[in-house]
Amino acid sequence: MQVGGWQIHTLLEGTFLLDGGSMFGIVPRSRWARHHPPDGEGRIVMALRTLLCVGHGRRVLVDTGMGDRLDDRRQALYQHTPRAGGLPAGLAALGLACQDVTDVVLTHLHFDHAGGLFAPDGRGGLAPAFPRAQVHVQEAACRWAAAPSLVDQASFLPGDAARCEAELDLRLLQGDETLAEGLRVQVTAGHTPGHQLVVVGEGPDTLVFCADLIPTATHVRLPWIMAYDQRPLLTLDEKKVLVAQAVEEGWALVFEHDPLTAACRLVERDGQVVPGETLCLDPA
Ligand SMILES: [Zn+2]
Repeated sequence: MQVGGWQIHTLLEGTFLLDGGSMFGIVPRSRWARHHPPDGEGRIVMALRTLLCVGHGRRVLVDTGMGDRLDDRRQALYQHTPRAGGLPAGLAALGLACQDVTDVVLTHLHFDHAGGLFAPDGRGGLAPAFPRAQVHVQEAACRWAAAPSLVDQASFLPGDAARCEAELDLRLLQGDETLAEGLRVQVTAGHTPGHQLVVVGEGPDTLVFCADLIPTATHVRLPWIMAYDQRPLLTLDEKKVLVAQAVEEGWALVFEHDPLTAACRLVERDGQVVPGETLCLDPA
């Protein structure tokens, strides 16, 4: 897909399992389970989908998946299954290497979004996975990662906030900002402080990477909000605005965690806004 002078691809880093109840907050299991069948432990499959925008002399990766970072306890819990070859293989399919990524935009620092910033260095340590990239993240998200709430502290890998500051070319953002022609970030802080969306293009030619504001196509329904959100009523307001704009202007939405629907536009059916036909943005 071509949007605003950018060639857009989705790259799947892998999948993992997460408690379905936590993903849908107050929604009864009998309703969400129709869309996301749970396993024997109530867990559902979540995609780790990233966005690659190539254009204007830059190669911008949005979020990084989990990376090969989980200890045995977390691996047993989350069952991270990397796609064969991980993000390097996805980039290679486009003729690119990790060194070619000029910018990484992090929606926030939860480990299923930022874990892949670092990769094993082969000597028992870690090294930046995209060594030449400038990393754009909200300062508020970094501050939150360094001192999270009791409610979401399990969503951060210990030491990652300090590691990011010490080892990456970090660019700390102070709110909504245009990062390049036709590519901007927009803060939606209901999920965590400093959580940001990525918006590419303008007018009807717009694509939004929804991150954890609308993690799957199923979450387009306004009250379907994750129990992980720090401020669910703020999420509700932020979703209302985004969904209304997306319907009115025909925006394409990309869902980071949806195992089946990578992206779609929204349509109104019987007075309800629902996901339209799935758009495939994977490299051919
Ligand atoms: Zn998150």
